[in-house]
Amino acid sequence: MKGLNNKILEVDLNHEKFNEVHIPEELLLDYIGGRGLGVKLLSDKLPPNLNPLAPENLLIFATGPFGGTIVPTNGRFSLVTKSPLTNGLFYSNSGGSFGVVMKRCGYDGILIQGALKEPGYFVIEDGKTEIKGASRLWGYDTEKTLDDLKKIEGNRINSLMIGPAGENLIKIAAIMNDAARAFGRGGVGAVMGSKNLKAIVVKGGDSKVDIHNRDLLKKYVKVAQDKIKVVPITRSSLPKFGTSALVNVINILGMFPINNFQKGSDERATQVSGEEINRKLTQEHEGCYACPIRCGRLTKAGDMKGKGPEYESVWALGPNIGIYDLIMVTQANYLCNKYGIDTISCGGSIACAMELQEKGLIKDSSLKFGNESILKELVKKIALKEDIGVQIGEGSRILSKNYNSEEVAMQVKGLELPAYDPRGAIGHALGYATSNRGGCHLTGYMASLEIFAAPKKIDRFTMAGKPDLLVLKQNQKAIEDSLVICAFAGWALGLDYYARFMKAITGIDYDVINLLEIGERIYNLERLFNIREGLNKKDDSLPPRFIKEPLKEGISKDHIVPLERMLEQYYYVRGWDKDGVPKPELLEKLKIKRI
Ligand code: SF4
Repeated sequence: MKGLNNKILEVDLNHEKFNEVHIPEELLLDYIGGRGLGVKLLSDKLPPNLNPLAPENLLIFATGPFGGTIVPTNGRFSLVTKSPLTNGLFYSNSGGSFGVVMKRCGYDGILIQGALKEPGYFVIEDGKTEIKGASRLWGYDTEKTLDDLKKIEGNRINSLMIGPAGENLIKIAAIMNDAARAFGRGGVGAVMGSKNLKAIVVKGGDSKVDIHNRDLLKKYVKVAQDKIKVVPITRSSLPKFGTSALVNVINILGMFPINNFQKGSDERATQVSGEEINRKLTQEHEGCYACPIRCGRLTKAGDMKGKGPEYESVWALGPNIGIYDLIMVTQANYLCNKYGIDTISCGGSIACAMELQEKGLIKDSSLKFGNESILKELVKKIALKEDIGVQIGEGSRILSKNYNSEEVAMQVKGLELPAYDPRGAIGHALGYATSNRGGCHLTGYMASLEIFAAPKKIDRFTMAGKPDLLVLKQNQKAIEDSLVICAFAGWALGLDYYARFMKAITGIDYDVINLLEIGERIYNLERLFNIREGLNKKDDSLPPRFIKEPLKEGISKDHIVPLERMLEQYYYVRGWDKDGVPKPELLEKLKIKRI
C-alpha cells in the first residue's frame, strides 16, 4: 500500500536476531497501520493466557500512512502489547519524532519478542540493526540514559527507554520517549523491563514515503492548516496553555476529582491551572514532528527543569491527592518522567492509599491527603520498590484488594481513571466502562460533545443517544490511532479530512464510512482479544462510588451514572449479545475470525 513501507522489523531478543517481514496488502487495507496493525499482529501471534511479563509477550510499535508526510501532527505512533496492569490488550500513543525516523529507516513497525539475557538496547540506523549491552545504563533514570545514549550514538538520535520503574517491573511503569514524552499507561514499561531491554534507538534513514499524488496532498494539507489556524482550541488555547488549560474549566463544571474522587471541585484548583503554569513555569513551547499546534511546554519549577505537566498529571499528582503547590506537583511530574512512571496511575494509586489511610486501614499517618512533604519521596519509593511503594506500584486495584476495600480503587479493568469525574458527564462515564484498555478518557472522548460542544453540545447528564455517539467516537479514535494522527488535530479536523489525505497518499478511494468500518473492525478485534483473555461483562464497570453516591456539592451535584441501562443499549448498538460478546453476523460483516 502506498504511504507505507509494507514491512516491519521483527526483533527476537532470545536469539538476538532481526528479521524484516513483509506485511500483506490485505492486512494493511483492513487494519491500516499504527494501533490497527499492532492489534492484528498481537491477536494473530500472542498465545492465550500468557503472563504479560513473560518473555513471549510482544511489544509492537507502529506508525501509519500519515507518518513522515506533510499531514499535520503525524509524529504520533502507537504501541500495542498485553498489559500487566489490566491483563488485557493495551494500546498507547506517543508523539515526538521516533515513529517518523523509524519509518525513514524503512519500517512501519517494530515487533519485539523474547528477552535479552543481560540488559541491552538495540539500534536501528538506515538498514542496519545492532544489539548492544546496557549493563552500565541499568539503574539510570531516563534523562541520564538519554544523555549517555547520545554520547554513545550521537546527538541526532530518537530513543524509547525505561527508567528504574520499568527495570523493577512496576505495574504502573511507562516507556519514555526521548525522556520526556511517554507511552504512559498500562504498565508497558514493565513489559520492556521484563525483556531486559533498556532502550531502542533510531537514527538516520532516508526512505521517502511513497505518495500517490503529492500535489493533491499539498492542497488538502493547506486547507487543514488554515482550519487549525482559526479554531480557537488549536490556534491559541493548546499552544499557549497546553492541556492544563482544562483545570479551570473542569473544576468550574464540578467534575474535577479531589481527594480520590470524593469531591468534584475545590477553589484552590486554580493554583495549579494552565494559566498559572504559563505565568510561572513555562520557558519555551515545543511540539512533535510536523505539528503546527505545538502544545508542549518546557518548564522550570524551583531548581528543576523538564516538560509539562499536562492536565492529567497536574491533577493526579495535585488536587486528587490534596496538593495545590504548583512547584511540588510539577517536580513530582518531572520525577515520574525520570523514573519512568505513569503519572495518572501514580497519582491514582497514591490517592487510593490515602483513602485507605483515612479509613484507618493503612496505619502510616504520613500518608494523608494534602501531605506534600512525602510526595517526591513516595514517587521514588514506588520506582525503587521500597516500603509502601511496593504496594502502590502494583496499582490501585491490587492495593485496595490487599485491604479488602476494592471500592476505593478508582479504576476500570485495573487502569486508574483520569481527571474527569464520570458523574459530571455520563457519556464520558460509559466510555470509561467500555474502553478496551480500561479507565481511559481518550478511547472515545465524549467530553468533546458533553463539555466542549465540539462539534455540537449535548446535555452531559442525559442518557439519550450517548451509546450511539460513544460507539462512533470509539471507532473514530481507533482509526485515527491507525492512520496515525494526533487526537488534538481532531479539534479542527475530522474524518472527512483524513479520508481526503488517505486518497491522496494511497490512491484508494477512502471515505468517512469505510474509515469508520475499519475503526469498528479494530475495536471489535480488541474486544475479542480481551474476551479470550478472560475479561467479560463484569469488567465493563465503574467503581461503585459513581453508581451509588452522588456528588454532594458543585454544579454536578446529585448526579450518578446510570451505567447498567446505558450498557445494555451500548451492547445493542455495537451488535454484541447481552453478555457483551460480538455476534457472529457482526464478525462476518467485519471479516474478523473469532480468536
Ligand atoms: S498537538 Fe501536541 S501532542 Fe499533538 S502532535 Fe502537536 S505537539 Fe504533539
